[in-house]
Amino acid sequence: MNEDRSWTEIDLTNFENNLINLKAKLSAGTDFMQIVKADAYGHGANLIAQTAISQGAVMLGVANVQEGMLLRYQNIKAPILILSPSLESEIDLIVENDLIPTISDFQFALKFATKISEKIKIHINIDTGMGRSGIPYEQALSVIERIIELNRFDIDGIFSHFSAAEDDEDYTNWQRERFEKIISLLPVKPRYIHIANSSGALFIKSKITNLVRVGLLSYGIYASSSQKDLVALKAVMTFKAKIGQINKAKKGEYIGYNKTYQTQEDMDYAIIPVGYADGYDFLLSNRGKVLIKNNICPVIGRVSMDMIAVDISGIHCVPNDEVILLGPHHDQIQVEYIASLYGGSRYEILCQIGRRAKRYYIRNGETIDSSPLLRRDFVSTDYSNDKLNRIIETAIEQRLESKEISNLIYTNILRDFFIEHDRDIHYRKNFEHKIVFKKHHRSELKDYHLVQTTLTFRKRLQNDYFLVVCAANEQKLEKYFLQQDVEYRWLLDKNLRANLFDITAVSVNNVKLYSDMRIDDECLIIRCFHPTLVNLKNQEVDFSISTQTYYPKKLHQLSVFIIELTKGVSITFEYGDLLNNVEAINIFSGRSKFALTDRQEKSISVETKKNVWVFPTSGVIFVY
Ligand SMILES: *Cc1c(COP(=O)(O)O)cnc(C)c1O
Repeated sequence: MNEDRSWTEIDLTNFENNLINLKAKLSAGTDFMQIVKADAYGHGANLIAQTAISQGAVMLGVANVQEGMLLRYQNIKAPILILSPSLESEIDLIVENDLIPTISDFQFALKFATKISEKIKIHINIDTGMGRSGIPYEQALSVIERIIELNRFDIDGIFSHFSAAEDDEDYTNWQRERFEKIISLLPVKPRYIHIANSSGALFIKSKITNLVRVGLLSYGIYASSSQKDLVALKAVMTFKAKIGQINKAKKGEYIGYNKTYQTQEDMDYAIIPVGYADGYDFLLSNRGKVLIKNNICPVIGRVSMDMIAVDISGIHCVPNDEVILLGPHHDQIQVEYIASLYGGSRYEILCQIGRRAKRYYIRNGETIDSSPLLRRDFVSTDYSNDKLNRIIETAIEQRLESKEISNLIYTNILRDFFIEHDRDIHYRKNFEHKIVFKKHHRSELKDYHLVQTTLTFRKRLQNDYFLVVCAANEQKLEKYFLQQDVEYRWLLDKNLRANLFDITAVSVNNVKLYSDMRIDDECLIIRCFHPTLVNLKNQEVDFSISTQTYYPKKLHQLSVFIIELTKGVSITFEYGDLLNNVEAINIFSGRSKFALTDRQEKSISVETKKNVWVFPTSGVIFVY
C-alpha cells in the first residue's frame, strides 16, 4: 500500500470504456472533442487527454490559455480549443502555443486580427439561450459575416452551448433549432459545427452538427438519472484515505466543532485525515457517507479543514484501514449521491476533490503512473529560471530521498530545455567511459598510476572539429566547461607536465582524426579534426576518444562527472591488481537517482539503462 494519507485513483480503463459506450451513441460522421478543462475535472488533463486521443478525440477543450499551454508542455499535439473568451493580453500566447481561440465578440476578433501575421484557426461561439458567453443570437449572423470579411481567420468551427441538456428537452431543442437556423444562413461551412455537451450528445439529434463535446459523462458521472438506461458508465475517480485514529465517546459527548453532533449512546468513531481543504465539502457536515470495509459510515459533526469523524459502530477497523470517500464502489459514495446530500454540483465535487492528494492512474487494475503531490505548485506557467535553478540546487544539495522531487525536477528540466525555450540543446547517447589503471616502468613517475581512458558516445556533430582540454588547475579548466566545442576535459595533477597527457586515438564514425596541441594559459588544448568532418556536420555521429596519462597514487579517489545531458551512461573503472576495496559512489540526478553498480573481480562499473536520461551534475566517485 502507498504512504499517502489520502489519494485519488483515476481508472483509465473505466474512462476508455465510458468513451467507447458514448461513441456508440453518436450518429455516423460525428466526432468528439474531449473536454479537459479544470485539469480534466480534477482527473489530470495530461493522461486523460492522451487516453481520449487514443480513443479518437479529434480535439481537446480547455478553459483558458494556461490550461492549453500546459498540455503543449506535456507534448500534446492535438488541436486544443479554448472554450471561454480570452483576454487581449493572451493573444500572443494563444498563437505561440498553437491554441484555437473562441471568438465571442467582434471587438475581440478585430484586436486579434491586428496582432497576427498569418491566418489562424478560430471557433465562433453563438449564444442560443445559454445566457453566458457567445455572440448574442440576434447579432450572430452579421457579426460572423464581418469576421469573415476581416479575412484573417480560418473559421474551423462554429458552436453554441446548451443550458439544460440533461433535464429540459424542450428548451434544448429550441436552442438546437435556433442554432441550425443560423448555420443554414451562413455563407461558409466550417469544418466543425457543434452544440452538444455530453448530455446533449445522448439526448439530442441534430442533422447539421458533426462534433460533440464530452465532459461529465466521459468521467463516468451521470448528469441525470434518466441517462442510466441510455448508456453504461462507470466513475473514473475514486477518493480514498486511511483511518488516522479510532476513538471512543461516551453517551452525551460532542464530536467536532461547535457541538453539532451529540452521541446518543457510547460509540466508536474514526478520524479520517480529510477535510474541506482536501475538497470534502463543508456542507457534508453531519451528512456525508464513507465506505469502510464495505460498510457505509455516516460523517458525524462538522467537516473541519483537515479531518472528519465517522461513526464506525459495529464495524471492526483499525488505524490505517482504507476508507473510500467517493467512487463507484457503492451507491452512497457515488458523486451523484454525495452531491445530492447537500445540493451540490456533481461537476464541482470532481474539480475540488483531492486537492491535497496524489493521483494514481490505473489501467486494467494496475497502477501505471502517478502525478506528484506538488503538481499544483508547478503547473503554473509563471515560474522563472531562477525558481527552476533553486529547485534543482536545493534538491541536489539535500539529496532528498524523494521520488516526488526528482520527478518534479525531471519534468521541469525537460520542459524548460525542450519546450519552453526550444534551446539548441545537445545531448549524448550511449555514453561509455572506461578508465584503466596500469602498471608502468617509468621510475620518475613511480608515484603515479598509468591511466588510460576511452570515451565513446553518440552526439550531433556541431563543428568540423572539437577540442580536448587538459589543465592542472581547476579554475583554468572551469571556463572550458561552458564551451560547447569541448568534448572532453581532464584535470591533471599539478606536479605533472602537460606533455604527460596524450591522446592515443580519436575518431568520429571510425574516421581517424588528426590532432594538434597548443598550450594556452596553462591549459593543454588538443584540437581534433579531419577534412571530411564538414560533411558530417549536424549529423549524429559516434565519437571515440582515447587518452593516456598519469594519476597520483596518493589520491584515494577518482571522479567522473557528467556535464551534459546524457541518455544512457556506463562508467567502468578497471584497476587490476593495483587497488583493493574500490567503492563507487554515484550521484545521479534525473528520474532515477541511482545507477546500477556492477562489481567484477578487478573492475567496477556503474550503469544506467540505455534509455534513461541523466542530467548534468551527475557522476561517479570511485573511492579506494
Ligand atoms: C464544460 C463544457 C462542456 C462539457 O460539458 P459536460 O456537461 O461536462 O459534458 C461542453 N462545452 C462547453 C462549452 C463547456 O464549457
